[in-house]
Amino acid sequence: MSDIGFIGLGNMGAALARRLMAEHTLHVWDLNPAAVEALVADGAVAANGPAGVGASGASLVITCLPTSAQVGEVLFGADGLADALASGALVADMTTGDPLATREMAARLAERGIDMIDAPVSGGVIGAEQGTIAIMVGAPEALFEKVRPAFEAISPNIFHAGETGSGHAMKLVNNMISSCVRLATFEGLALAVKAGIEPTRFAEILSKSSGRSYVADTTLPKFIIPGRLDQGFGLALMYKDLSLATKLGQDMKAPLMTGVHAREVFRMALNELGEDVDISQIMKIFEHAAGVDVCEAQKSA
Ligand code: NAD
Repeated sequence: MSDIGFIGLGNMGAALARRLMAEHTLHVWDLNPAAVEALVADGAVAANGPAGVGASGASLVITCLPTSAQVGEVLFGADGLADALASGALVADMTTGDPLATREMAARLAERGIDMIDAPVSGGVIGAEQGTIAIMVGAPEALFEKVRPAFEAISPNIFHAGETGSGHAMKLVNNMISSCVRLATFEGLALAVKAGIEPTRFAEILSKSSGRSYVADTTLPKFIIPGRLDQGFGLALMYKDLSLATKLGQDMKAPLMTGVHAREVFRMALNELGEDVDISQIMKIFEHAAGVDVCEAQKSA
């Protein structure tokens, strides 16, 4: 049992924090007071701002914020973590962030004797709650070994992706691929329903065929077909990930014909559906385009 700081208690942050709380004392901060109160009710200690987390005595502070811009604010803004942390402390950023921004922040912190690594996750809120989420770490080998015991409280699926920034790069590539698969599968579902195939039968057959994926075997039966239920992941967050992935493509001079297309479909969906909807709602774009209602088709099957 040791003290850990945790900043960013949204859908994913709160789920990761709860896993850590079972084994550690957690000092928590979020701009949203209700998010802090929910964790404190279950045993976490409320800190007064990022500097309060830094002053708590925790030698490991985890961030899980929308993107690297907020990580930069928390570290270097007014009342920031960087001024409050002792030399030798470690910041582990579980945000899905920008690899190049992370390398810059790590270099700034290194001047103060503070280490920073990236450790984004994949597997959704369910994966975090069930302790199966994948953690992809970008860090020098020694820091990977240093952080590993704390991460074991979250999940055994801890991977060393490479040097600092590699975790974020891996995560962005993963989300770009999963978004492309999501769009292709949703489009295919709308077509199949229009061609007279029952939605659950489509998912069942697809998940045992060459078009299978997490979207086919989990997303469709659990979230989409029963009524486009929220998955706890904002459509805007995935657009952010696609924007970062395609920016990385530009930075690396690697053309991303499919990824750029997916990014633009997500942009269109945000404009049509609103900035605050869950990712499940993107199904409506394909239903509207094909003139079908997948959930109604299932009900009347
Ligand atoms: P969220 O929008 O639910 O929560 C973000 C939290 O950060 C909010 O509680 C907000 O109040 C807080 N916040 C924002 N700016 C802040 C600041 N400056 N200081 C303190 N708190 C601040 O997002 P989420 O779903 O928890 O996602 C967090 C990160 O994890 C994102 O980078 C996301 O891409 C990634 N992620 C999410 C999922 C998922 O399924 N939700 C899966 C994998 C990765």
